[in-house]
Amino acid sequence: MTIELRSLTKRFGDLTAVNAIDLNVGEGEVLCLLGPSGCGKTTILRMVAGLETASEGEIRIAGKHVSDLAPRDRNVAMSFQFYALYPSLTVAENLAFPLYADNLSKSEIDAKVANIAETLKLEDILKRTPGQLAEGEKQRVAVGRSIIRDPTCFLFDEPLSRLDVQLREEMRGEIKLVLQDLSRPTVIVTHDQLEALTMADRIAVMRLGRIEQVDTPHNVFQRPANLFVAGFIGTPQMNLLPATFTGAKGESTAEFAVDGGQRMVIGVDKKAAALSDGDKVTLGIRPRNIVLSGEAGDDAISATVDIVEPMGAETLAHLKDGAMELRLVTDWKTPLAEGDTVHARFPPGATHVFNADEQAVRTA
Ligand code: ATP
Repeated sequence: MTIELRSLTKRFGDLTAVNAIDLNVGEGEVLCLLGPSGCGKTTILRMVAGLETASEGEIRIAGKHVSDLAPRDRNVAMSFQFYALYPSLTVAENLAFPLYADNLSKSEIDAKVANIAETLKLEDILKRTPGQLAEGEKQRVAVGRSIIRDPTCFLFDEPLSRLDVQLREEMRGEIKLVLQDLSRPTVIVTHDQLEALTMADRIAVMRLGRIEQVDTPHNVFQRPANLFVAGFIGTPQMNLLPATFTGAKGESTAEFAVDGGQRMVIGVDKKAAALSDGDKVTLGIRPRNIVLSGEAGDDAISATVDIVEPMGAETLAHLKDGAMELRLVTDWKTPLAEGDTVHARFPPGATHVFNADEQAVRTA
């Protein structure tokens, strides 16, 4: 069973909220739609569920065109917020609620409730009402209610947004396990990158109605396809330095003049092959990948430590050289004081180069 979207488009008047999206969600795959507010994530989910009509394009669920089917006939479980439990019904009744329209016998309903209760460890609280439940329990009941009809696929909109940080961490892991067990194509909408990185098999990063990159969490983080994805994924944000390519230096290094001053030779794995002298680029380096050393050199940017922010196990430091600024994260033991001069190196393999069209320059 899969979900397939082809050229899926949604316009609201002049606004193109979803712009010709192509996407496949595989058998048992968990795909996260991740992007800033208003980029079209929820609209995609609503179109798959049948709550919104597509302006153009196709939606297939388990190989079947569903555009003409009513939401109920799509056999899709959509959960906007896990909190929408009926307060006056018990947990068992809340779980059974979606089954009432299916003309099942009482014993059939009881069996399904028992089965879900076992999967989600709800057996001991079946007789309680939502007011008597802890937050994590409520969440599990709501998950149970959305999966009890054994749907073809699952759609979740910001499933964990209402929970506090600790519970969110717990539930991320729990939901991931349940979804693995159920093995259905699942789409989760989130603007929380940690949620996406931890729960997804693949992430579709969106901007302005379009998909910028679809890839594994690892690749979206390690090999961002363009400047937007590079800047959007990762905290603290990747350093993005406007620069000019000033020439290859042998097989595997190249020199760049960083806007605001210094030149720097960086190992770029032949990436320079795709560039010409004078090309405008953006260099990307994650704050944790910068290496400090005591020595200046043509492979380092020298800068002054402007602000030091201890963060427990790590320290975040802001470095400055004229108009150029760098964020650096180091081990808390690294001695750094405001006003120090440091020499920052960008190790080969950790430096990203984006061309004037904001696309990653790939290794040849
Ligand atoms: P968020 O994370 O804030 O929920 P989102 O990525 O899910 O954002 P959508 O809710 O899909 O974004 O909205 C995409 C765009 O379409 C937004 O600009 C939104 O204002 C617009 N939009 C959504 N629904 C409607 C509607 N019914 N009528 C008009 N415009 C709409």
